[in-house]
Amino acid sequence: MRVLVMSDIHANFPALQAVLADAQGSYDEVWCLGDVVGYGPNPNECADTVRALPALTCLCGNHDLAALGGSEIDDFNSYAKTAALWTSDRLSARTREFLGGLSPRAERAGFTLVHASPRDEVWEYIDSIDVARDNFALFTSPYCLFGHTHRARAYVMDAAGNCIEKLPAHREALPLAGQRMLLNPGSVGQPRDRNPKAAYALLDAKAGTWEARRVAYPIADTQAQMRAAQLPAPLIERLNTGR
Ligand code: ZN
Repeated sequence: MRVLVMSDIHANFPALQAVLADAQGSYDEVWCLGDVVGYGPNPNECADTVRALPALTCLCGNHDLAALGGSEIDDFNSYAKTAALWTSDRLSARTREFLGGLSPRAERAGFTLVHASPRDEVWEYIDSIDVARDNFALFTSPYCLFGHTHRARAYVMDAAGNCIEKLPAHREALPLAGQRMLLNPGSVGQPRDRNPKAAYALLDAKAGTWEARRVAYPIADTQAQMRAAQLPAPLIERLNTGR
């Protein structure tokens, strides 16, 4: 089983297209860890494309829930709130139906999938070794895949009980064997790990590898659409630097 793992597409259709083109022929299933919409200019294009992918498991994230009218929006900063209201106004009936049917957690053959964390599937940021260590106690499968931080990361629990953080390099294949791991593919549509390229991962469950990947996409195309839509300037600018 070869799986395309992606998260936090955030309505950035040029980035999603670049990822799908780069991964073409390398996967049999797709696991999407949530936040298909929010921030970016193409919520319906992204939702229509994701829902048509083969053998899809898709979670919902905090931005998907906010766009559907959930109370998650109350915890957003002003830029995220503006973008969520803009998104909510534009969701097609088909996109609403798709997002409304998603859950923030799933189990797949030895893998726990969550949008944010096992402890809080919608909100908690696993952004440090301490938070990762706490969360290892809260899932029972060998591996947990998560998104939400927009940072490609791997946390490994070694045999001695130490939690180690790894920053996987592009096309570096981490071996899965023998150690419990928390794995984040990074963000397709709004990376925040100081690398503006779209991030995703290829999981080969049979070979036991997790391969992190980055792919360039036409950032200026997304930004031009965001400007035309009058989305907040800081959300447009951050795409240049991946912060
Ligand atoms: Zn997100």
